[in-house]
Amino acid sequence: MLSVHKLLRQLCRLALDDVMNGLTLYRARFVLPITTPLIDDGAVLVESGLIQAIGDYHQLAAAHPRATVVDFGESTMLPPMVNAHTHLELSSFSDWATTAGESEAPQDFVDWILWLVRVRRSVTEDQLRDSLIDGLQASLLAGTGAIGDISTSLECVSAYQKSPLRGRVFAEVLGHDLTLIAERLATIEKTVQNQPGAFLEWGLSPHAPYTLSATAADRVFAFAGRQQLQCSIHLAESADETQFLQSGSGAIVEKLYAAAKWNPTVDPAPGSSPIQGFCRQGRLSSGDLLVHGVQVSVADIDLVKHAGCSVVLCPRSNAALNVGKAPVSAYLKAGVPLALGTDSLASSSSLSIWDEVAFARDWFSGEAAPHDWLKMATLGGAKALGLQARMGHLSSGCEASFQVVTLPFTPQSGELEEALCADGHDVKTTHLYLGGCRT
Ligand SMILES: [Zn+2]
Repeated sequence: MLSVHKLLRQLCRLALDDVMNGLTLYRARFVLPITTPLIDDGAVLVESGLIQAIGDYHQLAAAHPRATVVDFGESTMLPPMVNAHTHLELSSFSDWATTAGESEAPQDFVDWILWLVRVRRSVTEDQLRDSLIDGLQASLLAGTGAIGDISTSLECVSAYQKSPLRGRVFAEVLGHDLTLIAERLATIEKTVQNQPGAFLEWGLSPHAPYTLSATAADRVFAFAGRQQLQCSIHLAESADETQFLQSGSGAIVEKLYAAAKWNPTVDPAPGSSPIQGFCRQGRLSSGDLLVHGVQVSVADIDLVKHAGCSVVLCPRSNAALNVGKAPVSAYLKAGVPLALGTDSLASSSSLSIWDEVAFARDWFSGEAAPHDWLKMATLGGAKALGLQARMGHLSSGCEASFQVVTLPFTPQSGELEEALCADGHDVKTTHLYLGGCRT
């Protein structure tokens, strides 16, 4: 039988080990790891910014009696949201539009693009930087831990430096003038020598098939290949885009090309859908992001699947611009990796992926289960940005990156995921930890 003295000595050694190791046990009523089943009265054991174990609170507490316990009560712990497509530099857009006398947002897709360009031209680099800083902060407050952010102004890059957000900044390229494209790529080549932030990496964003000539698109994707930059492209967003690529006609030619003084005859060969045009011409690489993916056929979905690309859905933006609904159930059935993005505040009402989930759950009705939406919002986004080994799920060996959320009521465990989606607007993120550090 163990003597009291020996028992005490063992307990002391355990305690000393736990204290020396800086072990912290985070407990919550629900722990939702995403890749494994929900844990009622669960806990996550963290050491040196990494998850050491995850499981039943009482078992982990007994095994690590001297770990510091942080108890989040009736809350839910789950991975941080990942906003896989956004334009944080446009976070002050509505203020700019009002100042520019452009407060009425057009609901037609091409009119909206022209409106965006007019307002965007009215702001300075300093305004863009301030707006980006606001967007980074708003993201953290909404429980977002990683972003796929589009950057048009490389002058504002310093704003990312102090952000704890993970993910990627995609430098945008668009236009038809090959000299200007070459100059832009040369600037990007210099810029990407240094990471945009402590936890952020670079990517490239060829804007869209209707803002790059065929030759320009080929050069941009070839550059991405040489520089080994992941690409994020707005693709298959609207019927106007499809019409333009298939017949070289429609509102994009009549309005956008006329305003930009671009020659529509130099654009991608007519007859292709947006997906076919980019998947079959060797432009897209495995791991690239297709943003929107609304106007797609069954054959297009098959091409995306075989290309190894993720699709980033932006439902609120699509609804605001009346471009249609992405075929979510068909994507899920085909096994296409899906993520969620808010797009910018020029077409969406907030930078919260929780709001996106709540809207999507309602708008798409039964096309995807609550777990599917939560998975897209966390793990799907992490996979899209190449972060799945570090975050997007709560598993041993991952970064201790998680959010703590509350609902206005405590649901039964079997109803939690539905409650988180259906009441997304009422979900409050009370804590966000990234790599073990509270933001
Ligand atoms: Zn966008």
